[in-house]
Amino acid sequence: MNFYSTNNPEHRVSLKEAVIKGLAPDQGLYMPEKIPTLPQDFFDKLPDLSFQEIGYEVITALFGEDLSVEQIKELVDHTLTFDAPLVKIEEGVYTLELFHGPTLAFKDFGARFCSKLMSILMEGEDRQVRVLVATSGDTGSAVANGFYKVPGVEVIILYPKGKVSELQEKQFTTLGENISTLEVDGVFDDCQKMVKEAFLDKELNEKMLLTSANSINIARWIPQCLYYFYAYSRLPKTDKKLAISVPSGNFGNLGAGILAERMGLPIDTFIASTNVNRVVPNYLAGNPFTTESSLQTISNSMDVGNPSNFYRLLALFGNDEALFRQKVKGFYFDDQDTINGMKNVKQNSNYIMDPHGAVGYLGLRNFRNISPDEYVGIFLETAHPGKFRNVVEEVLELKLELPERLAKFLEGEKKTIALKNDYQEFKKYLCN
Ligand SMILES: *Cc1c(COP(=O)(O)O)cnc(C)c1O
Repeated sequence: MNFYSTNNPEHRVSLKEAVIKGLAPDQGLYMPEKIPTLPQDFFDKLPDLSFQEIGYEVITALFGEDLSVEQIKELVDHTLTFDAPLVKIEEGVYTLELFHGPTLAFKDFGARFCSKLMSILMEGEDRQVRVLVATSGDTGSAVANGFYKVPGVEVIILYPKGKVSELQEKQFTTLGENISTLEVDGVFDDCQKMVKEAFLDKELNEKMLLTSANSINIARWIPQCLYYFYAYSRLPKTDKKLAISVPSGNFGNLGAGILAERMGLPIDTFIASTNVNRVVPNYLAGNPFTTESSLQTISNSMDVGNPSNFYRLLALFGNDEALFRQKVKGFYFDDQDTINGMKNVKQNSNYIMDPHGAVGYLGLRNFRNISPDEYVGIFLETAHPGKFRNVVEEVLELKLELPERLAKFLEGEKKTIALKNDYQEFKKYLCN
C-alpha cells in the first residue's frame, strides 16, 4: 500500500516513508491510496471475534502487502493489551470507554501501535529516530509512555506552559531516559507550529532523522479505527441506525471512525462534538472552513483552533463537501453546558464522565433529540475522569479514587526545560 499527500495526489510514498516522515514534504497529510473494503462475512462474524482478532483482519486489509503475518500479529498484540468496554448509559445511549490503557486515554492505542510500527520499520538501520510531539495534554503522556525505553528512538515533547493538567504533565515529564520535555511559553497551536516548522527545515533534516507521533502520523491515526469495529461488534443487535459521537480537537479520532466506515462498517452518522473551539461544527453548518486561535476550556485536550486532520476528513469523502456534511453533524458546547451534562448523567445514570466524554455525550444527545427512535448512539469516552480530577471533583462534588497507575505518576519529579515561543530557540535546542 502506498500513501499520497492530501496536497498532491501524485506524490506517493511507501508505508515506511509515510511513517518516518509523518508529514508530507508539501505539508499535506498522508492517506492510503486505496481504502480496502472488508468482506460481508467479516461483518457477520464480528460479534464472535476478540478485539485482537478484529485487529488482525483490519490491519491485514490495510498493511498486508507491507508487513508479514508475524509482524501484524506482533503489532496488534502490542497495541491491544487492554479492553475498550461498551457501557450502557441510557436507553439507546452507550459509551465506549477508551481509557483502560496505561495513561488512561484513547491515545494509548495510537501511541502503542506507532512505537511498535516504527521499531519494526527501523529494524536493521543504525540511525536513531527523533520523534517530535506537540501536545495539549494527552498525546504527550500516551506517546511518552508508548515510546519509553524503546531502543533507537528519542522523544521530544513540546507542551504549552500552564495549559495542561498537573497529572497530564506528570505523566510525561517524570519519565526521563529517552523522553525529553519542553515547556513552551505559548498555546498548543504554537507548539504544533514549531514542530511543523522543524519538519520542513531542510538544514535540520540533513542533520537528523526527525519524525512525528502526532495524530497526523498514519501510524498513530490508522489504528484508532480498530475500536470502532470493536464497538459495533459489542453493540446488542438492533434494527436502528447507528450514530457515533466523537469528542474532537485535532479530529484524528473522528477521521479514524470515518476510515472504518469507508471500509464497510455500517455507521449511519458521525457527530463531531467540540467545545467552543468550534471551527469544524461551523464548517459543517455550511460555512467555509476557517481556523482560529485556540480558546482554553475545561476539556483542554480539545482546545484546538486549527485542527490538523481536517483535510484528511475531507479526503476520506473524496473531497465531496456535500457528502461530508451529510455524514457528519457538528455540535459545540461551552464549559457550562459541559458541567451541566456531567451533573445530569451522574444524577440520572450514576455514571461519571470526564469533561471530554461529556462533550461527546452532549453532541449525541442533541443529535438524538431530533429523531431519538431512529438511532442508537455511542459516544466515545476518551479519558478516565481521574485524569481531570480537579474539574470532575469540583463539578460533581465527590472524591475520585485514582487508579493506582495514575497515582504513581504524581509521586514522580517533574523534569522539563523552559522554551521561548520562538522557532530559532527550538532549533538551537535540537542541534545541541
Ligand atoms: C486528544 C484528545 C481528544 C481529541 O482527539 P482528536 O483526535 O485530536 O480529535 C479528546 N479527548 C481527549 C481526552 C484527548 O486526549
